[in-house]
Amino acid sequence: MTKYIGAHVSASGGLGNAILNAEAIGANAFALFTRNQRSWTSKPLTTDEIHTFQQLLIERGFQPQHVLPHDSYLINLGNPEEENLLKSRNAFLDEMTRCQQLGLSLLNFHPGAHLNKISEEQCLDQIAQEINRALNQTEGVTAVIENTAGQGSNLGFKFSQIARIISGVDDKSRVGVCIDTCHAFAAGYDLSTEMGYQFSFDEFEQEVGFKYLRAIHLNDTKKGCGSRVDRHETLGNGFIGKEFFKRFMHDPRFDNIPIILETPDPSLWSQEIAWLRSL
Ligand SMILES: [Zn+2]
Ligand SMILES: [Zn+2]
Repeated sequence: MTKYIGAHVSASGGLGNAILNAEAIGANAFALFTRNQRSWTSKPLTTDEIHTFQQLLIERGFQPQHVLPHDSYLINLGNPEEENLLKSRNAFLDEMTRCQQLGLSLLNFHPGAHLNKISEEQCLDQIAQEINRALNQTEGVTAVIENTAGQGSNLGFKFSQIARIISGVDDKSRVGVCIDTCHAFAAGYDLSTEMGYQFSFDEFEQEVGFKYLRAIHLNDTKKGCGSRVDRHETLGNGFIGKEFFKRFMHDPRFDNIPIILETPDPSLWSQEIAWLRSL
């Protein structure tokens, strides 16, 4: 099996539960939050929690590189206001540290928003500096930048913006990209047609390069191409449509990296994963 597919599963009641929830839907990859995603504070992981998680991961046959932790939605490394940037900086370092403690190699995050107070370029360069800061204080964890739908003042909706962030990161071996298909479509990359598929991923190769691709968020969308609105939909039921997923499953550029569903109905995840494998 060369495609590693799962969903963003719940870790409520303990991080180990995420592994069991992933197993229950027939996944061989998964995403999770390692701390409360809506809070600035978190209790440190105990050695017991870390041990239980690592033990269970091996026991259930998951590989650390197919686990894609997602950081808190509150974090904005592009925040132009010093006090709020400090909060984001500390929380991001905590997120990276938790991944390192758990023996995981990836941390997926949304690049940030300029809040209409600084230029796009200033914001992208600041994000790169913040990534450098976090990488300098951790080991073995890659910062995985997710493309956004471009809602509000969120950056990273164009592949060229992600390229600019990467160009400012000192250790290129520990920065990567996660493409969210719903966000890409919302940002104007028309993945629904064969030509659009080729054009979009050619642009990704030219601007960023597949060598930086570390993960996929596989979602359909409720909104049109270029809408800049982030509304995920069950696979095949939205504007991206079934043909895209067929092409995607046959495309070797997406082998051996975690492919994560963030579709809206968790009761359908096992069916969606089985359907993808049937393609
Ligand atoms: Zn996503
Ligand atoms: Zn989204």
